[in-house]
Amino acid sequence: MTHIIAEPCVATKDTACVDVCPVDCIHPTKDDEDFETAEMLYIEPDTCIDCGLCVDECPVKAIFPEEDLPSEWEKYTQINIDYYENQ
Ligand code: SF4
Ligand code: SF4
Repeated sequence: MTHIIAEPCVATKDTACVDVCPVDCIHPTKDDEDFETAEMLYIEPDTCIDCGLCVDECPVKAIFPEEDLPSEWEKYTQINIDYYENQ
């Protein structure tokens, strides 16, 4: 299981979630080369420990436990995976 970042992050990208993640599995951070060009941030599913700390931190409610992801944003599960597979 993992957490997923969905559409509300697009164009928000304030990185509030990055600061609270204990395992640094949310990227790109402001220190990453692709931060400016990335549409949004993504969670690395294999590293996420499902602590849920990022959920309350997000001002636009973009982060969900995988099982609670709204159906209209289903595609974001794969979008989060793809970001790390294309690194
Ligand atoms: S649920 Fe926890 S481990 Fe997973 S991305 Fe959020 S803060 Fe990081
Ligand atoms: S806190 Fe929410 S809007 Fe901000 S970068 Fe993280 S997921 Fe995106």
